[in-house]
Amino acid sequence: MTTIASALLHPTTNLRSAAQSGPLVFAHGKGVRIFDREGRDFIEGLSGLWCTALGHGDEELAEAAARQLRDLSYATLFAGKAHEGALDLADRLVAMAPFDAARVFFGQSGSDANDTQIKLVRHYNNLIGRPGKKKIIALDRGYHGVTIGAASLTGLAGFHREWDLPIPGILRARCPYAYLEAHAGEDEDAFTARLVAELEAMIVAEGPETIAAMIAEPVLGAGGVVIPPRGYFAQVRQVLDRHDILLIADEVITGFGRTGEAFGSQTMGLRPDTMTLAKALSSGYVPISAVLLPQQIYQAFEDASATLGVFAHGYTYSGHPLATAIALKTLDIYRERDIFGQAQRMAPVFARHLQALADHPLIGEARSVGMIGALQIVRDRKTRALYDPADGVGAWCADTAGIRHGVLFRATFDTLCFAPPLVISEAELDEMFARVRAALDDAL
Ligand code: PLP
Repeated sequence: MTTIASALLHPTTNLRSAAQSGPLVFAHGKGVRIFDREGRDFIEGLSGLWCTALGHGDEELAEAAARQLRDLSYATLFAGKAHEGALDLADRLVAMAPFDAARVFFGQSGSDANDTQIKLVRHYNNLIGRPGKKKIIALDRGYHGVTIGAASLTGLAGFHREWDLPIPGILRARCPYAYLEAHAGEDEDAFTARLVAELEAMIVAEGPETIAAMIAEPVLGAGGVVIPPRGYFAQVRQVLDRHDILLIADEVITGFGRTGEAFGSQTMGLRPDTMTLAKALSSGYVPISAVLLPQQIYQAFEDASATLGVFAHGYTYSGHPLATAIALKTLDIYRERDIFGQAQRMAPVFARHLQALADHPLIGEARSVGMIGALQIVRDRKTRALYDPADGVGAWCADTAGIRHGVLFRATFDTLCFAPPLVISEAELDEMFARVRAALDDAL
C-alpha cells in the first residue's frame, strides 16, 4: 500500500497536497504504458516529462546499456581525454544539426545545459573584447530549467517568487501566444508584427551593445504548449541580426521528432546560432544533455588557451559512457524505425483527437504541431476569461481526474499539455483520448 510519510522531497510539486494524498508510485513500464505498484495502468500522455519518445522497456536500449556498463563504466573527457561513444555522438549531433554546428558540449540535464549556454555566451563576449554585451532576452512563459541561471531564463513567476531570482541581466519579451495575447481583431500577422516591434524597441532602449543573446523554445512546452505564429521566428531573427544578438534554440522538448521533423527549429522557421538538447536525446532512458556551438564561438575558446590555459567548464559526468551509448542507440532507432516519419504520420490523428475536444464546455482552444499539443481551459469560451489560478482547475483535471481515468498529462495553469511517445499507435491514441475526455467530463 501507499506509504504517505516518506523522506522524499518531491521536485516541482504542491507539497501540502502531496503530503495529504501520498505519491502515485510507479513500478514498471512497457511501451506507452506505465503501471503503479497496485498494477493499474496509465497511458503516458506526456512521455514521462516530455522525454520517453520511444516508450518504456525498449529491449535494444536495455541491451546497449548493459553492454556499455560491462565494457566501460566511466571515462572522463577532461584534459583532452575521450571515449569512442562521446566522439561518435558529438559527430552524429553535428551532422544532424539544422544549422552550422561544429562542437558539442555534454551535460546531464536541460537546466545545466542552459546554464552552460549563459556561461558560454558571457565567456565568448569577454574573449572577443565585448565585456559589456551580456544580457539575455527570454520569453515570458518560456521554460528553460531550474538551476540559478536556467530558472532566471524561465519566464514563469513561481520559479522566481521567494527564490531571489532572476539573476540580473535577463530581459523578458512578450510571449507569442496569440490566443491570450492578441488584441481583438488583430490577426496573426499583425500580432507578430507588434511583438517583433516591441522586441526591437526593448533592444534599442536597453542598448544593443549590452545584449548578447535571446533564448527561445521553437514551441514553448512547459509554459503551455504555445505555438508561435508563422513567420515569428524569421522576423525575430532579422531584428537580432540587426543588433548582433545570438539566437539560442532550446530544443530540450522539441528536439528529435516531436514536431514531426528532427528539430522544432525546422518546423517553426527558427534559424539558431546555438542549440540546447536533452530529454529525447536518450529517449529519457538516462540523463544527458548537449549544447551545440558554431565554429566561430568554439574558435574564440580555443584561441583563448594561449592566455587562459584551461577552458574551465565541465562536469564529472560530461559525456558519461552510459549516456552516450544510450543516446547513440536512440539515434539509431530513430533512423532505423523511421520514428520521425511515424510522428509525422500520427500527427493528424493526434490533432483530430485534440480538435474533437475543442467544443468541450471547459475548453477554449485545442492546438498542436506534430506530436505536441494542448487544450486551453477557459471559464468563458466567448470572452476567453480564465479561471482564477487559485481554483486549480487544470491541476485537478491532470492530477486527480487524469489519474482516476488512467492517463498522465500535465497542467500549466490553465493549459492541459500532451506529448505522447512518438511510438504511440492510432489505437493507443484513441484509448488515450477516450480517457482524457472522461477526465474532462469529471470536471464539469
Ligand atoms: N528546457 C526546456 C525547453 C524544458 O522543457 C526543460 C524541462 O522540461 C528544461 C530546459 C530543463 O530540463 P531539465 O529538467 O532536464 O533540467
